[in-house]
Amino acid sequence: MSRKLKGIAAAPGVAIAPIVHFHTTLDHIPTWQVGPDGVQAEVSRLGAAIDEVTAGLHSLQQELSSAIAKQDVRIYDAQMAILHDPTFKRDVENEIAAHGVNLEVALQRVIARYEGVFAAMDSPAMRERAADLRDIGRQLVVALVATERTKYTADGRDYLFAAEEFLPSDAGLLDREHIRGIVTAHGGKYSHGAILARSLGIPSVVGIEEIMLTTSTGALAIVDGDAGIVVLEPTQEDLDHYERQLREQRDIERRVAEVRLQSSVTPDGTHVRLCANVEGVRELDSLETGTIAGIGLFRTEFAFMERRQFPTEEEQVAMYRRAMQGAGGKPVTFRTLDVGGDKPLGYFRMPEERNPVLGWRGIRLCLDWPDILYTQIRAILRASALGHARVLLPMVTSRSEVVRCREVLDQLVQDLRDTGVAHDAEIELGVMVEVPALVHVLEDLLPIVDFVSVGTNDLVQYLLAVDRDNQRVAKMYDPFHPGVLRVLQQIAASAAAAGKPASVCGEIAGDHWFTPLLVGLGYRELSMAPVFLPRVKLMLRSFTADECRDLAARAVLMKSTREVRRLVQEEIQVRWERFLTGSAEVDA
Ligand code: PEP
Ligand code: MG
Repeated sequence: MSRKLKGIAAAPGVAIAPIVHFHTTLDHIPTWQVGPDGVQAEVSRLGAAIDEVTAGLHSLQQELSSAIAKQDVRIYDAQMAILHDPTFKRDVENEIAAHGVNLEVALQRVIARYEGVFAAMDSPAMRERAADLRDIGRQLVVALVATERTKYTADGRDYLFAAEEFLPSDAGLLDREHIRGIVTAHGGKYSHGAILARSLGIPSVVGIEEIMLTTSTGALAIVDGDAGIVVLEPTQEDLDHYERQLREQRDIERRVAEVRLQSSVTPDGTHVRLCANVEGVRELDSLETGTIAGIGLFRTEFAFMERRQFPTEEEQVAMYRRAMQGAGGKPVTFRTLDVGGDKPLGYFRMPEERNPVLGWRGIRLCLDWPDILYTQIRAILRASALGHARVLLPMVTSRSEVVRCREVLDQLVQDLRDTGVAHDAEIELGVMVEVPALVHVLEDLLPIVDFVSVGTNDLVQYLLAVDRDNQRVAKMYDPFHPGVLRVLQQIAASAAAAGKPASVCGEIAGDHWFTPLLVGLGYRELSMAPVFLPRVKLMLRSFTADECRDLAARAVLMKSTREVRRLVQEEIQVRWERFLTGSAEVDA
């Protein structure tokens, strides 16, 4: 009998492959019993892991020697001393032999014991050693788990990524060619990890709390990213069912793909610009520039997060130029660094915050560290000489923040002009509308910006007071809430009255059930993960602008989310199904 676990559908599609556990912290480690015959094997694994971490520390030291002070590079000598301390090694070996535990568990226990001893010492310097120890432990576990993982992935087999959480920084861990699906214990549909999974086209289910406890690496499973289900120990019947679903899905994709190269216009001639959201430079290679109106959201922070230190101005210029070339001459909207919340920068010390989502993030952080903002905007300006670039500010709360950013921009334009550096002096400046209060002061703000882009992922979380990363309240995170629709209506109306373009770049822009409503509310630019573009285009080509307006007008007056969903089901879904079964034809 198979076991079916229900979670949250985070990225569409079905995947069938063995699970591979990914552990990146000391808290979540694989556990097994070791008999007397197995002790030697564990001791050998310890030796290999120590060698690997030593090599990693050496190369890190070398890499950093030109960037940081000599005495700071010596921090790594202290770590090296712990790693090669014979007492430490002996204690770990004794723990394995005495208690029959695997190496990861022995490491965790010995480090916890040492930490207790250091923490009780009077000297602050000795207490600091506890942090080094923890770091060494973490590196050893990462090395061990990576070795285990390659057993399953090195020979080119497909796999399902399983972890407590899929964080934006984990994207670097993935072997893109063979990862088929993602399943995690935590997270929500609108978490940045889920956004990345959708953007990479990897079926995902999040919120399966027991995934790391009740499965083991190598076990076959099915990820159903449409229904939010994970099937463990699938029977032949389950496999047949999902293989069939996979075939049907490919058929649907084929039908949807037929509109790929057609224009994004309603049957009565209303054009809507469909743009791509891009998270990393690597995605640029697969961008089909013929099918997009531009890059509507370039989340620059992901490129910052993949690195070990802040990119220099030159490195940023190269990256932004690449983005502009990748967009094939179409406009690129560069969002300035939106770190904080669930997107920490490893090399930038941020304080522990009780509510990071309400904390020091986005433009707040950049205005406190203007060097970051100056360098980034200067680099975007230099890249803008290649074509049409726009600057987008994240997490804006008030007009005064935009005034300050405008000053930075004007000053940089002046500097570049004075020094004869090529740039677009007319570069457009826009704001993300994702903080509810901004909606109510939009009229004051619109005269000093060139465009607005609605970040519904955050806007919805703040409007509904529902954490986008918390699976316990995931059901309440529903953008079809009439309150959300009315706010979206208000934003579109304010922008239209000021004659400024408004786009949507949150995840609902790529949700085809939302398309007629957004068009009906007045949005003429939608930016989404490219994987969703054909579906959205098909929807767009199925409803006239009048029909969209009528649907939106009815939806905003509804009394509950359920009523809105019923409307979507009865009037939007039905037409979609008619098209897919071939009983409705969309005009070319
Ligand atoms: C949003 O909040 O809708 C958005 C596009 O930004 P992010 O998802 O990166 O927070
Ligand atoms: Mg946001």
